[in-house]
Amino acid sequence: MGYLLNINQLTKTYGNLTACDNISFDLYSGQILGIVGESGSGKSTLLNCIGSNLSIDGGKVTYTNSNNEILNIKQLPEAQHRKLTKTEWGFVQQNPRDGLRMNVTAGANIAERLLNVGVRHYGNIREEAKYWLEQVEIDTNRIDDLPSTFSGGMQQRLQLARVLVTKPGLIFMDEPTGGLDVSVQARLLDLLRSLVRNLDLSVILVTHDIGVVRLLAHRLLVMKNGQIVESGLTDRVLDDPQHPYTQQLVSSVLINN
Ligand code: ADP
Ligand code: MG
Repeated sequence: MGYLLNINQLTKTYGNLTACDNISFDLYSGQILGIVGESGSGKSTLLNCIGSNLSIDGGKVTYTNSNNEILNIKQLPEAQHRKLTKTEWGFVQQNPRDGLRMNVTAGANIAERLLNVGVRHYGNIREEAKYWLEQVEIDTNRIDDLPSTFSGGMQQRLQLARVLVTKPGLIFMDEPTGGLDVSVQARLLDLLRSLVRNLDLSVILVTHDIGVVRLLAHRLLVMKNGQIVESGLTDRVLDDPQHPYTQQLVSSVLINN
């Protein structure tokens, strides 16, 4: 079986800072790939480059879509690119303000992605929206409320519902549990864990929190100064880290907890 996503020598610079330096890896369907590293190591930049939120300065991103077509993302025609990022891909942002429309209802936030795939029947859209609210454990009575009236944890769960409604082939998550209280984080992690299992999702998950990838990720990439310094199966990387930087990351967690 071929890869879902292939990243080949991806490079991104900001002036004379190389935020992503020749990054290469594959992601396979059904896999949760965690990207860990300390703040400033280039995780968000990498995720946004792959997800086409940022332009890349070198290298290539290749995606195998649901029709088994192998797409060079940079060379996709605009309409096809839009369709990809609005339906087959989903982005869960660290800050819900970047991933939600705060001035329209929860239901409308979910409906927007359905409208993009051409669903027009109002009743069906509302039912779908309710279904996905339930899946992310939001009371369906809140469907007509603005996300600004939701708690932080609810806003993150609404982002998930909004993304999942189009049954995406690939989901990008940037620090999905960041900025939440510990108990709220735990609940969101539980939900994420059951969703990725039940829906067989393919996810690239960026976090500085080793506990999050320990629970969710099959494989890990460890980033430092824009480079991958170590990669492998999650248990192997965390239990038997080879690179001094990974050893330090893992042991600092042990000390802090
Ligand atoms: P992480 O997500 O791992 O914390 P980032 O990808 O946000 O790291 O940042 C990687 C590096 O790129 C950091 O040194 C950061 O200061 C720098 N950087 C990020 N965004 C920009 C930007 N828009 N302009 C200039 N430098 C940036
Ligand atoms: Mg970041």
